[in-house]
Amino acid sequence: MSSHPPSSYPESLSCPENPLHPETLLCQRGGDAFGAVVPPIYQNSLFTFESWEAIATAFEDKINTPIYSRGHNPTVVEAERVLAAFAGAEKAKLFASGMAAISAGILHFLQPGCHVICVRNAYGPVLALLEQYLLPKFNIEQSFVGGAEVEEFAACIRDNTRLIYLESPASGLFGLQDLAAIAALAKAHGIATMVDNTWATPLFQRPLALGIDLEVHSCSKYLGGHSDIIAGVLLGSAALLDAIHSREFELLGARIAPMEAWFLLRSLRTLPLRMARHQQSALAVASMLAAHPKVARVDYPGLAGFPQAELARRQMSGFSGLMGFRLKASLKAGLKAGLGDGADGMGTDVRDAEAAARRFVNALKLIRIGVSWGGHESLIYAPAIGYQKELDPERFAALGLSPAQMRLSVGLEHVGDLIADLQQALEKV
Ligand SMILES: *Cc1c(COP(=O)(O)O)cnc(C)c1O
Repeated sequence: MSSHPPSSYPESLSCPENPLHPETLLCQRGGDAFGAVVPPIYQNSLFTFESWEAIATAFEDKINTPIYSRGHNPTVVEAERVLAAFAGAEKAKLFASGMAAISAGILHFLQPGCHVICVRNAYGPVLALLEQYLLPKFNIEQSFVGGAEVEEFAACIRDNTRLIYLESPASGLFGLQDLAAIAALAKAHGIATMVDNTWATPLFQRPLALGIDLEVHSCSKYLGGHSDIIAGVLLGSAALLDAIHSREFELLGARIAPMEAWFLLRSLRTLPLRMARHQQSALAVASMLAAHPKVARVDYPGLAGFPQAELARRQMSGFSGLMGFRLKASLKAGLKAGLGDGADGMGTDVRDAEAAARRFVNALKLIRIGVSWGGHESLIYAPAIGYQKELDPERFAALGLSPAQMRLSVGLEHVGDLIADLQQALEKV
């Protein structure tokens, strides 16, 4: 008897002829010997075998057999199976963080001297990985594009382009890229595509079905949802994920702990419920902000007035709870810059805009100040906080941001309480 028959894993969670809905998939669990409704945490570094022959056989299928938990752990594999079925992927691979998943995915496609095309408003550490690490260390050439038009990508393609890296909606101003069109362009040139789908989750956006090769999520946001884990996942074809498994995953070693995978399984069961509430509340909050006299603009793909609303509705089936908005700088600052009452904060004095932003953030009582997003709790953050020492107007302008720019993660509290908190803080701007 083998000590860990792979047959103890549940059979495929869904079948193509009769696909289950996400809500059902995420609550499914194949039985174990005791019919446990919640799967056990295999808190093991290693697994033992009955004989020389048994462990030798196990090595023949290392990727799919529990031998050592850096490579394969049953609790982690259970979470990967649920995630893959949910996202419509052949396989999922969990990592210690979103950045571990992203860096493993990017490294997989690159070789020294090749070229990457990346969206300019990608998550900050991804830009740092490309510009400050891969470029100087491995001579990875790079082009950055706004990403709203497919032609921008076409214009950047070179003979040595190996990867197009997308994030839609992107960090900062939530600009979208047309995933199907960019995937088709890349395929025609033999270029791989990767997209960060953290904002939408697989519930609201299905990049693999649109032709993208590799989908990545930070599970530290909505998939985890309770602000208690750091994790990341890659999703794609079995061939691609197995290749990443035996190279970037096992060799760089950024594996997720069994306990974290178990927390993730726990969280996924309520993801559709949580996302429905995030979406409903975010739309109410965004609508209130968009109509408020002290708010210059709201960046939320779910709003009817969003510049790419048509693409948003074509490409996504719903909208999550993270948005941006910009405070109007004070009338005094607006007049000083000759922009009047309708100033959007960009042309006004940087210090005045920062002071207004600071008053607003410090006036919030319920909504807490913090990085990250996608948890049960509502959070505010201002990009200017990260640039305290060098509040460089040019850097802000290059990113399309302003010192009066806010990022709001709408959590699961009662929306009436959130709106009241925002309104009382806006009074003090
Ligand atoms: C947080 C985040 C990441 C990185 O995830 P970690 O789990 O923090 O490493 C990547 N992409 C986006 C869009 C994020 O918000």
